[in-house]
Amino acid sequence: MKRLAVEVRGIVQGVGFRPFAARRAMALGLAGFVRNTPSGVELECEGPAEACGALVRALQEDPPPGAVLFSVQARELPPRGETGFRILTSGQGAAEAAVSPDLGICPDCARELFDPADRRYRYPFINCTACGPRFTILEKIPYDRANTTMAGFQMCPQCAAEYADPFSRRFHAQPDACAVCGPRLTYVEGGAGTCGDVIGRFQRAILAGGVVAVKGLGGYHLACSAQNPAAVRRLREAKHRYAKPLAVMAPDLAAARALCLVSPEEEAELLSPRRPIVLLKKREHCAVAPEVAPGNGRLGVMLPYTPLHLLLLEHMPPLVMTSANLSDAPMPYRDEDLSRVLELCGAAVTHNRPILRRMDDSVCVFAAGQRRLFRRARGFAPAPVPVRTGGAAQAPQLLAFGAQLKNTFCLMKDGRAYLSGHMGDLDDEETLRFFRRELPAFLALFGAAPEVLVSDLHPDYASTRLAQRYAAEHPGTRLLAVQHHQAHFASVLAEQGLEAAAGFIFDGAGYGTDGTSWGGELLAGTAARPRRLGRLRPLRLPGGDAAVREPWRAALCAVADACGSEKALSLFAGQDGAEPLLRLAARGVCAPLSTGMGRLFDVFAAVAGLPPRVSFEGQDAMALEQAFDDTAGGSYGFDVVSGPGGLLEFDWREAVRCAVADRERGEGPGVISARFHRAAAGLVRAAARECPDLPVVLSGGVFQNLRLLESCLSLLEQDGRKAYANSLVPSDDGGICYGQAAAAAALLKE
Ligand code: ZN
Ligand code: ZN
Ligand code: FE
Repeated sequence: MKRLAVEVRGIVQGVGFRPFAARRAMALGLAGFVRNTPSGVELECEGPAEACGALVRALQEDPPPGAVLFSVQARELPPRGETGFRILTSGQGAAEAAVSPDLGICPDCARELFDPADRRYRYPFINCTACGPRFTILEKIPYDRANTTMAGFQMCPQCAAEYADPFSRRFHAQPDACAVCGPRLTYVEGGAGTCGDVIGRFQRAILAGGVVAVKGLGGYHLACSAQNPAAVRRLREAKHRYAKPLAVMAPDLAAARALCLVSPEEEAELLSPRRPIVLLKKREHCAVAPEVAPGNGRLGVMLPYTPLHLLLLEHMPPLVMTSANLSDAPMPYRDEDLSRVLELCGAAVTHNRPILRRMDDSVCVFAAGQRRLFRRARGFAPAPVPVRTGGAAQAPQLLAFGAQLKNTFCLMKDGRAYLSGHMGDLDDEETLRFFRRELPAFLALFGAAPEVLVSDLHPDYASTRLAQRYAAEHPGTRLLAVQHHQAHFASVLAEQGLEAAAGFIFDGAGYGTDGTSWGGELLAGTAARPRRLGRLRPLRLPGGDAAVREPWRAALCAVADACGSEKALSLFAGQDGAEPLLRLAARGVCAPLSTGMGRLFDVFAAVAGLPPRVSFEGQDAMALEQAFDDTAGGSYGFDVVSGPGGLLEFDWREAVRCAVADRERGEGPGVISARFHRAAAGLVRAAARECPDLPVVLSGGVFQNLRLLESCLSLLEQDGRKAYANSLVPSDDGGICYGQAAAAAALLKE
């Protein structure tokens, strides 16, 4: 006879870990108990030594699907002669246990949903310990029903019996409910709500070409048929979103396959409990309206991730599913937001289970053999990301505030970073308010009291000011600032566990240590103190931020720099005010310098004849990537020369001259795009030779350009170099907080 105390750390609350452990223990004939603790799950088992060992192995090797184990530690205790195995209710405040992300509906629940004999037949909120809402309904730890937005629903006797039955899939499933006792749907239209035939009403409205809002897991979506061009146009008009691609929800995998090519990894990701939007390659005849993702070779596709979605999409065409907000505003998620949502579309499928926190859909793509995240939110947050750079495991608790745009923040402790969902652009007042609410709530979930705070170096980022204010309100904390591109650089080192690297950080803009805008940098060294070895030849951005919306402005100055003013003015003769703009820029008036690679992509897009004005940052750069003509040969070239201050300068002037000549010869965007992309990849290959002994890392938003990413990685590999890009966090500013934490931890270690 033996008694073991086993301590399990990780995401083990809210994923059915206790019932799983109890069932295994009972099957092995063991006595004892299991319970949630502040740091995870604790279990004691008593019985034959062999059975005790088998239980520990089962916990380690075959945990339930949603569980993420950090460690399993067992120690021996004297046997007590206990009989029976029990699940104890939580002790006080399980504050440190990792919180589970929301989990997409599992196959068992999906089967019951469509089984007429099941008592939850067509019940839109069916869930179990393996699936259902988690982070979006969780108010505080421990993960018990009373601490979720399910608190207001009293379980019926049948649900209560399942909840208490260790052999049920719903044993201690906190959001468990049924049609008798649980949340219910309402169809709201014309100021009135009805509970009858909600699914039917929705489907008829969609098939008639309507746009209908749907309350999902992390907020309200707008839905319409993806095959109805007029409906998609109406949806775009309602959102004031005219250019950015929209994602679709396909009813099932077969429907996704009919639209796009799906590789085995993409299939696994689509079907995983995370259920992200995966950017898939469109088939030649992709049966969605061209308005969904105009001019784009890829389509963002996701599968239904809640039982409600399964019901709504049954026998339906693929639906556009996009957040129910105006253009750049955050996604609405509270019940009081419904009236605003209804202003956009007129009808909504809603329900009475409150959403506690907004959670956008995650977006990923598979490139160069790995999953790359474009947005890390639902299904991922707040699962931890390991920080594998030196100093991270020993560092004090650290809170990194992220960047201004695509903001996320993160808490780092014990060498793991817990990233928030996508907060969005902090320029937006409402996003800022959400950030202020969410930050303390998030810290409370993890029982965190950060000692070190990390911000960007940019004095005007709202995130920097929030960090400063937090520091002022929490005496004894220490505030560090990490340069933007250093954070991008450190993010790859931390994912890969590299102590040093040479990094190409290609970005839109970030505040440099010299106060100018950076974004086409070669950094080399450690996460703590990389040295800036090289940079793009600076571009003039006439009108500053206006140049982001009007790429022709930067192109005007770049062409003038490369070919002279006359050529520049003739190329952009159609643009109002080109001449005075150029004159002012020549004197440096209202024309800040930038080494941003994102802006150089804009320049080549404008030279290639793509739209001189865009509606979102990087739209032209994206169009340039899409224009890439595989049949076009040739490449432009960058000159790597020694510039001021001992920096290498990546001089693009010859490339601009060649592109202008191509344009004048009548070449289209396809040729200019191909030659410019090859030049940019060639630059990375050539400049990497300056640091022959270091692995190469690639980060920054520009590397969301898959043409560029894949060709850089393949050229570097051809040269026998080890090369890495982000895969656990986004390479754009959504990954900044993670890099900030890694860089700060490395600095603290020094
Ligand atoms: Zn389930
Ligand atoms: Zn019930
Ligand atoms: Fe950035």
